[in-house]
Amino acid sequence: MRNALETAARRLASVVGVILVLAATAAAQARPSPVAFTVSTPDPASHLFHVRVQCDGLSGETAEFRMPVWTPGYYGLFDYAANVRNLAATDSAGRPLEVTKTGASAWVVRKGPAASVVLTYQVLATSPFVASAFLDDMRGYITPGALFVYVPGQLRRPATVTVELHPKWSGVATGLEPVRKGPPRTYRAADFDVLYDSPILIGNLETLPVFEVKGVPHRFVGYQLGDFDRAQFIADLRAVVEAGTQVVGDVPYKEYTFIGIGPGRGGIEHANSTAVPFSGIATDRAGRNRTLAFLAHEYFHSYNVKRIRPIALGPFDYDRPNVTDMLWVSEGFTVYYEYLMLRRSGRMTPQELLEALGRTIAAVENNPGRLVQSAAASSRETWAQGPFARGGAGQTISYYDKGAVLGLLLDLRIRHETKNRKSLDTVMRTLYRKYYKELGRGWTDAEFRSVCEQAAGTTLADFFAYATTTQAIDYERYLGYAGLKADQAWKLVPLPGPTPLQAQIFAGWTAATVR
Ligand SMILES: [Zn+2]
Repeated sequence: MRNALETAARRLASVVGVILVLAATAAAQARPSPVAFTVSTPDPASHLFHVRVQCDGLSGETAEFRMPVWTPGYYGLFDYAANVRNLAATDSAGRPLEVTKTGASAWVVRKGPAASVVLTYQVLATSPFVASAFLDDMRGYITPGALFVYVPGQLRRPATVTVELHPKWSGVATGLEPVRKGPPRTYRAADFDVLYDSPILIGNLETLPVFEVKGVPHRFVGYQLGDFDRAQFIADLRAVVEAGTQVVGDVPYKEYTFIGIGPGRGGIEHANSTAVPFSGIATDRAGRNRTLAFLAHEYFHSYNVKRIRPIALGPFDYDRPNVTDMLWVSEGFTVYYEYLMLRRSGRMTPQELLEALGRTIAAVENNPGRLVQSAAASSRETWAQGPFARGGAGQTISYYDKGAVLGLLLDLRIRHETKNRKSLDTVMRTLYRKYYKELGRGWTDAEFRSVCEQAAGTTLADFFAYATTTQAIDYERYLGYAGLKADQAWKLVPLPGPTPLQAQIFAGWTAATVR
């Protein structure tokens, strides 16, 4: 019995050994090596980033490389490839390979039997804008989609980025995860969606005091931050961020970085960072709140759009527009939550909240485009009309403004239908838990509507008509749920003698929740 057992054990061991080898081989095939990017800036004044790409594990006679034609968060097309200079390819031994430009954003390398290709190129970076790349004597800002090529069909491959710092610079700010081994300032992205979602700022940067929310570190790093009370700013920002995390009650990243890229406009959200123009904060209350609302907006996107997202918005196609009808939720509700976060953190009074929402309603109702374009159409057509179109020529609307108003209406409606037991927060929390946490995907338009109707406990046909048609909004009814009405100038004012439910809804809706 013993011998027989030993023989069986040896056979089993050898079978297990073969299985382990097969498993290791399969794992190696399933998990290809990272595409390794190295960025350097030997002469920053030239505005040229120098990029080297090492891409292993390629099969076939040729390999194609492409530049993205857009970057997530900015719903418009860019010609990033037009800034590429002197693109050349070699094999891993340095032997030159033939490169042909086969499209506006595509190159094909005739690599023969070589499994590895090394590309080198420069990128002219002259646009100091959050969705572009910029380099000068003072700093470099990288929108990864403007600098890094991808291999079609291999977007799930990991990537690394090594930043070779110019000697006069000391800092790198990015949401990418640092790699402990290997060259200094090497960062890792699990795939190209993470890579293209992680802007990089280099230069002599200032890091403001790190603050924690639910034990998770948040930092603000930037270039020429300006002259302001840093301690007060961080206290304000911390309170606003905390109000944002309370909506779903979960912090979904290991660290979060606000990256201040200098003066400018715009701002783009990312899964664990945001790139924002920043040159200080005003000393007056209105100016301070404008900056805090802007930062609250970009921050809240780490939930709404990066994780609570329409199904079209990730995984992404970098070769064409990624069209959705739902930017009125992704952008508009984020505007609505900017104001709620400022109120909940005590940075706005209830009266200031009403004023901000009244101004947003006025922006919608004073725009003749409201009779022409619905919120859904505005979202769908943004790729042609430009992401920041705000009612051009009376034919279009802004899904930021209309979406914020729709967020307000939906919030008050759900509170009314549920006797203030549920709210728009319930919708955000359910979408986050069900589609992001459990299913790991975005939601369809029908799934979104179903979650809203479940929260309200009733059909919301009339509400969704406000999103998908140009039908006039019944403000009297919806604002009335909170004991409010809009006056002739769209200012929100209290109704006399509110019912107990109206008073309860108003109190719950405008409560401060962060100490
Ligand atoms: Zn936004």
